[in-house]
Amino acid sequence: MRILLVEDELKMARALRRGLEQDGHAVDLAGDGDDALSRAVENDYDAIVLDIMLPGRDGFSVCRELRSHGGWAPVLMLTARDGVEDRIRGLDAGADDYLIKPFAFGELLARLRALVRRGATERPAVLTVGDVVLDPAAHSVSRGGELVALSAREFALLEFLMRHPGEVVSRMRILEHVWDYDYGGLSNVVDVYVGYVRRKLEQPFGRPLIRTVRGVGYSLEPS
Ligand code: CA
Repeated sequence: MRILLVEDELKMARALRRGLEQDGHAVDLAGDGDDALSRAVENDYDAIVLDIMLPGRDGFSVCRELRSHGGWAPVLMLTARDGVEDRIRGLDAGADDYLIKPFAFGELLARLRALVRRGATERPAVLTVGDVVLDPAAHSVSRGGELVALSAREFALLEFLMRHPGEVVSRMRILEHVWDYDYGGLSNVVDVYVGYVRRKLEQPFGRPLIRTVRGVGYSLEPS
């Protein structure tokens, strides 16, 4: 398995990494929440071991953001406190299971195995906004029951807008989520791709879908 290990305490992180590697896994280590989130969004991990208390963005926020980006790798949260509130917050943020520190390493392995076995049950559901239906697993989009072929980037743009229906999202935010963090290409790339999506999902149907909010960004508002 390829595992993302998110833990800022170096001694703990090293010990966990060594153990996971000895168990035959490939391990990427992130020491803070922002690094964890960008790695988790960019890579396809089989499981994520996520400490709650992290510098910057905490584990709850990492998990919530990951899920809102359509990342569905199983997440095992590590909490130093055994407070029930942390566990509830973790599960509400989209974690699949949690482990209270200190724990036996064998238990961590067993829980990871169980999560990965469970796997597909937590996959993203089909997104529906108005008469537009997007299936992230099948990578298909339809409007009014008619299938529409989109390129990978058009699909990612539409998926992001569909995860924030009726919300005005800025070009910068779209750029960060749909393109790479340090995208250095055309500054109007978002507008260009919104145009492509409109050509495929508005014009043939004669109904609006994406509203332009001048000076701000875009909002998905199907009629
Ligand atoms: Ca920590």
